[in-house]
Amino acid sequence: MKFRNFKMVDYVVYGRGCFNQLDEIIATRRKENKPMIFLVDHYFEGKALLNRIPLRGNDKIVFADVTYEPKTTQVDKLAQQLKDEFGTVSGIIGIGGGSTMDLAKAVSLMMGNPGSSADYQGWDLVKFPGVYKVGIPTLSGTGAEVSRTCVLTGPTRKLGMNSDFTPFDQIVLDPELTANAPMNQRFYTGMDCYIHCIESLEGTYLNEFSKSYGEKALELCRDVFVKKQLWDDECDDKLMMASYAGGMSIAYSQVGVAHAVSYGLSYLLGTKHGIGNCIVMNHLEEYYPAGVKEFKYMVEKNQIEIPTGLCKGLSEEDFEKMINVSIGMKPLWENALGKDWEKIMTREKLRALFEKL
Ligand code: NAD
Ligand code: ZN
Repeated sequence: MKFRNFKMVDYVVYGRGCFNQLDEIIATRRKENKPMIFLVDHYFEGKALLNRIPLRGNDKIVFADVTYEPKTTQVDKLAQQLKDEFGTVSGIIGIGGGSTMDLAKAVSLMMGNPGSSADYQGWDLVKFPGVYKVGIPTLSGTGAEVSRTCVLTGPTRKLGMNSDFTPFDQIVLDPELTANAPMNQRFYTGMDCYIHCIESLEGTYLNEFSKSYGEKALELCRDVFVKKQLWDDECDDKLMMASYAGGMSIAYSQVGVAHAVSYGLSYLLGTKHGIGNCIVMNHLEEYYPAGVKEFKYMVEKNQIEIPTGLCKGLSEEDFEKMINVSIGMKPLWENALGKDWEKIMTREKLRALFEKL
């Protein structure tokens, strides 16, 4: 048995208002004449948060267009623009949801590696460190702030740049930054965390490390989505820690059926990660009976709409594409169903599941 030895985020600061310490935190990482690039979720264009960004010298704010989930072409373009303008930069500071944080990680890596980000989609293909990178979540749930990947849609696949160079050097966890997110978005991204916990805790890869984090994250998700009557600051505080702990849980285990199927949907239809997972989870009683029951309760209690009928009218070829993408996620299936997963999750069975969505 060989145990995984994984790289973690170097520095973590947590607390309401800790964003105000950013200037001091990044000060020692500044290089002469090389700017800090603040890659900010386009939601914040024209918002008050921009006035709190500690710009110095030739620092620059670049808005991240997250209308669609990050693409390798988008990463390559951003990195090239920075190389053309500055040669190199002191660092990339991603401020936003999972999409912006993933973009920040990927652009940082591409500042130090040749070619296209598509060349590095996979496991341990990145050769050199990128530039200093900081992750500052404004939505809680994906765990992108702690993970060793950044998920990108490339020319042939949707896959992350998984490597020891990928985790952030610093994360700034300030729950105040999530305060304005609409309830639907909070729910979809929050459920990403809930589903990470269920898939990790019910998976065959589980060990005491992932269990400890997964159980805590699940408890925090329940506090927020099951027990609380009205959303308040405490919910933002708890969900931010749930996201962190949920991410730590899957670092040592793996996600499962909801994610494997949701990747198929998102590849063909562009369905976003959080909502895609919810659409799939809604139909997974067979695999996660207790989790799905609680999920449905949370949907109802929080008055959320989960879309249905996505796969109506899709062609034979479309179904084949989704099945191929989904079935290709081998570690996810093995974690969910065990070593003999291929006997359990046949193409026919997966097809029937897609037809329900
Ligand atoms: P997101 O980053 O895609 O953002 C969703 C929407 O919310 C966007 O319109 C954004 O502009 C808006 N938004 C962000 N912060 C806001 C705020 N405070 N108030 C109002 N609106 C705000 O959503 P997400 O669910 O956080 O991230 C999903 C992405 O994360 C996907 O691209 C997925 O692939 C990725 N992901 C990565 C990992 C990882 O380990 N790297 C894990 C899970 C998901
Ligand atoms: Zn997820």
